[in-house]
Amino acid sequence: MRDDVKRLLKEFKVTTFGFKGDIKRVQNQIRPDEQLFYIDSANATFRNKQTGEKRFAPGVVFVSNQRVLHAEYPAFSTAPVKEEFELFDIHSICTKGKWLASGNLSFSTSTKRVDFFVTFDKAMLQKIEDTLVQTIAEFGPALYEKSLLVKPEEKAKVVCAQSARVVECPGCSAVNIVMRGMIGRCEYCDRYLQ
Ligand SMILES: [Zn+2]
Repeated sequence: MRDDVKRLLKEFKVTTFGFKGDIKRVQNQIRPDEQLFYIDSANATFRNKQTGEKRFAPGVVFVSNQRVLHAEYPAFSTAPVKEEFELFDIHSICTKGKWLASGNLSFSTSTKRVDFFVTFDKAMLQKIEDTLVQTIAEFGPALYEKSLLVKPEEKAKVVCAQSARVVECPGCSAVNIVMRGMIGRCEYCDRYLQ
């Protein structure tokens, strides 16, 4: 196993029992220029926000300086079923609340709401949430600018997106990430954010 993966498994006290094969395999997905901040086994529920359609997937997840990737390795198949989320597309993060089963880390993107079951250990859950929030705040804005540069007609927006603010929702305490120049709205209770 890679040294960084080993170190993170230890740091987040991940029980690899039953998941060691998947964790080993997901290492092939790590890009050469990707830096990892969290890796874990995590069963996930992906909800399409438009249609309400739900998909459950066991598997492993990692958070890097570029994205959040979940990979499921179905038996008798060599190819993983992947769900990938750009850091700048994640704008609400939540680990507590009446709509969320305990031990889950939830986040929202423009198209999906994702719930990962990670751990019942509250302190560790907080550490994982903090890691995701910090990673997005640090790398999200630059990635967002880069994505806009691909489309020249959107270049004007680049000036506005130099930083991200981390705002706790006054209504439900979900953590929201708001890019500068954008209006924040809590994904979980729909409040506008100051
Ligand atoms: Zn809220």
